[in-house]
Amino acid sequence: MIPRSELKNELMNAGIRPSVQRLAIYEFVKNHPVHPTADVVYAALRDELGSLSLTTVYNTLKLFVDAGLVQMLTIDDTLRCFDGDTSSHAHFRCDNCGKIVDLKIKNEFLTMVDGLAGFEVKEAQLYLKGICPLCRNKK
Ligand code: ZN
Ligand code: MN
Repeated sequence: MIPRSELKNELMNAGIRPSVQRLAIYEFVKNHPVHPTADVVYAALRDELGSLSLTTVYNTLKLFVDAGLVQMLTIDDTLRCFDGDTSSHAHFRCDNCGKIVDLKIKNEFLTMVDGLAGFEVKEAQLYLKGICPLCRNKK
């Protein structure tokens, strides 16, 4: 768990005013590595933060994404998930149970992509889809 004081500093260093709502949303995505959607974050914080709306949650998460503090996963085109872990890693989405699993990936993986000379890569995502071991064993 990253302490709240440290998270507050991260927001301020990124030029984001750490309001109570923003800090709570940031703390949730940083300390819950489950790739939550805005709905999940909203449901988790709604009681704690009385005046919260789903739109505020989504816009706040987008603010963090634009500041490079959080990444947005579009592995499922109907579902935007947020990931507080901005380090280089790949994601596997199980077609059966829907869970999204983190996979380690070496930072140099882009050197394995041909034809990138002259391009400036600003973001790279590696998505894998299929059936997870748990679901495979159930069949
Ligand atoms: Zn599964
Ligand atoms: Mn992840």
